[in-house]
Amino acid sequence: MAEPAGIQADVVIVGAGLSGMIAARTVLAAGLRPVVLEADDRVGGRILTEEILPGVPVEIGAQWIGDTHERMFALAAELGVDTFEQFDEGETSYELGGAGVLRGNEFHSRYHDELAELERVLRHLDELATEVPVEAPWRAPRAAEWDAITAGNWYDDQGLSPIARTLLEICTVGILAVPTTEVSFLHLLFTIQTCGVTSELLAESEGGAQTTRFTGGTGEIPRRLAALIAEYIVLNVPVQLIEHGVDRVAVHCRGGLVATGRRVIVAVSPALAGRIMYDPPLPGVRDQLTQRSPNGTAMKAFFVYDQPFWRADGFNGQLISDIGPARMSNDACIPGDDHGLILLFLEGDQARTYGRLPQPQRQELLTAELVRHYGPVAAQPLAYVDGEWSEREWTRGCYNANLGPHVWTNYGSALAAPIGAIHWASTDTATFWSAYMEGAVDAGERAAREVIDALSS
Ligand SMILES: Cc1cc2nc3c(=O)[nH]c(=O)nc-3n(C[C@H](O)[C@H](O)[C@H](O)COP(=O)(O)OP(=O)(O)OC[C@H]3O[C@@H](n4cnc5c(N)ncnc54)[C@H](O)[C@@H]3O)c2cc1C
Repeated sequence: MAEPAGIQADVVIVGAGLSGMIAARTVLAAGLRPVVLEADDRVGGRILTEEILPGVPVEIGAQWIGDTHERMFALAAELGVDTFEQFDEGETSYELGGAGVLRGNEFHSRYHDELAELERVLRHLDELATEVPVEAPWRAPRAAEWDAITAGNWYDDQGLSPIARTLLEICTVGILAVPTTEVSFLHLLFTIQTCGVTSELLAESEGGAQTTRFTGGTGEIPRRLAALIAEYIVLNVPVQLIEHGVDRVAVHCRGGLVATGRRVIVAVSPALAGRIMYDPPLPGVRDQLTQRSPNGTAMKAFFVYDQPFWRADGFNGQLISDIGPARMSNDACIPGDDHGLILLFLEGDQARTYGRLPQPQRQELLTAELVRHYGPVAAQPLAYVDGEWSEREWTRGCYNANLGPHVWTNYGSALAAPIGAIHWASTDTATFWSAYMEGAVDAGERAAREVIDALSS
């Protein structure tokens, strides 16, 4: 990595997450000199792979890509990171509506009508989402109407049975990591439209966004990407102040480093971008936007066993529960490794409640849940690890920024629009798979193109 000192570059980039590093690589390919200033002592941001046991990596952050994540497939191939398919054989285990724990087949036959209701609403969401232009959601013909209500309000008005409404909530919180009562309905439709259709996104079990994993862990992607541009990355330098003028920026970091350039790309979530000082100050609309762009709350908890015993019982490792603590789970085993790995999600209110408990207590409650679904053998894990993202100083929540009512229509135009020499990246500004790694790449490339065009004209 480069040595901190006064640095001169063409393009200063704030944040060495996927978006920032893609932006750096893109401007470099265009003959411009980047410098990437990263607050943390590592690259990757919301992508974080840790070994739970020697040689057994788990994804504390991003884990999957889906079939339409074309940029991520291309990046993995270029970096020499192999992919493998998510295990998806067997039945899901359900625990809903006070009916106890039911196997998938049993659940589907008992709640056939409720599942049909859910399907009807998902198709309706697909139709409405096509009316939302992803570049400018506030220009949707019904933007004012949809931005005035929450996704939860709209769901409540669909005449759903309690089971269908609960399933819809669980699926949606699994995407947004906040209760649907906190998110604008327009934001939900925008999210759907950036991803394609709900079947890609809001699946009741394995979704289109979760078909494929990376050999060695997702962390291989930022690790190898950083190795290609190592001389342009500086770690442990939180950006505190951006002075900006016409074609000139001076980016000041904690510790005294100042990087100067002609443009700056801020590749952090809007909430964190709003904590940086700007001189001259940014327009009010931009600051008010960042005041209203809260990151969700989610954590992942991994249990390791000597083998994936649930598979032998015909389960796919997925559970859906309205009791919890976890609402959902996944088989997280690694091909070629005999261990059984299972991943439980705590999202939205579940993360707020259980994420604040001492870890042993959280582990105990999650273990009890696994025992309810998969039997007493689940009480004997070899190892456990979880990760809380709102505690991380340079992320402060995940999976992304979710806009509440009235924000898109009043402030949305300030999300990605450059302000003089300042450009905005991060997945939260993407128009394709916003909130996902694919979106991080999309936004990094878009911001880099803006800079390249501006500096070549
Ligand atoms: C638990 C979890 C699970 C996820 N699962 C998936 C998944 O399965 N599939 C998927 O596609 N996506 C998933 N995601 C989302 C995915 O991780 C993100 O979309 C993507 O990594 C965002 O990249 P980014 O570069 O836009 O932002 P970030 O990764 O947030 O990068 C921003 C960088 O900026 C740095 N930074 C912040 N403030 C400053 C500052 N002031 N100065 C300098 N640097 C700063 C941060 O340290 C960070 O490195 C998940 C995320 C989490 C947390």
